[in-house]
Amino acid sequence: ASRVDHEYDYLFKIVLIGDSGVGKTNILSRFTRNEFCLESKSTIGVEFATRTLEERYRAITSAYYRGAVGALLVYDITKRPTFDNLQRWLRELREHADSNIVLMMAGNKSDLNHLRAVSEQDGQSLAEKEGLSFLETSALESYNIEESFKSVLTDIYRIVS
Ligand code: GDP
Repeated sequence: ASRVDHEYDYLFKIVLIGDSGVGKTNILSRFTRNEFCLESKSTIGVEFATRTLEERYRAITSAYYRGAVGALLVYDITKRPTFDNLQRWLRELREHADSNIVLMMAGNKSDLNHLRAVSEQDGQSLAEKEGLSFLETSALESYNIEESFKSVLTDIYRIVS
């Protein structure tokens, strides 16, 4: 049985996007053990979306974002390119997602501080420039995962209520 069978007052679709390997699947599995009512899509769609610059994936991309009211943009603090690619992900979001979508940026794998390639300050600066909320997270250590979703959900709830 899925969470969709449970009773709830609101059901929000939130998508996780970001390069392959940044930790989307683990963030989601960590989070869904909590008691939130949330319809979530598998990251198989996201990984397709990683290559959305190819025209044939366009339809999948649109379907993936359709109805989404929140998005978690994830990068890996140990892999600079996953951070640099956030600009591309943002462009795609602005092209395909609802213009009122609530965005949150997550610098994942904060437990790997010794391998860090993106400073927290760089993350913060980009988030401020783009007007996004930002947290560093660790799916491994269960650090700031709940807080990230709560932040997105609180912002959404404020808009719909
Ligand atoms: P996805 O492709 O974005 O869905 O990424 P996955 O969730 O499949 O994770 C990719 C790899 O990173 C896996 O080997 C995970 O175990 C690892 N991983 C994910 N989150 C973390 C984290 O917070 N810390 C560490 N150290 N590894 C992580």
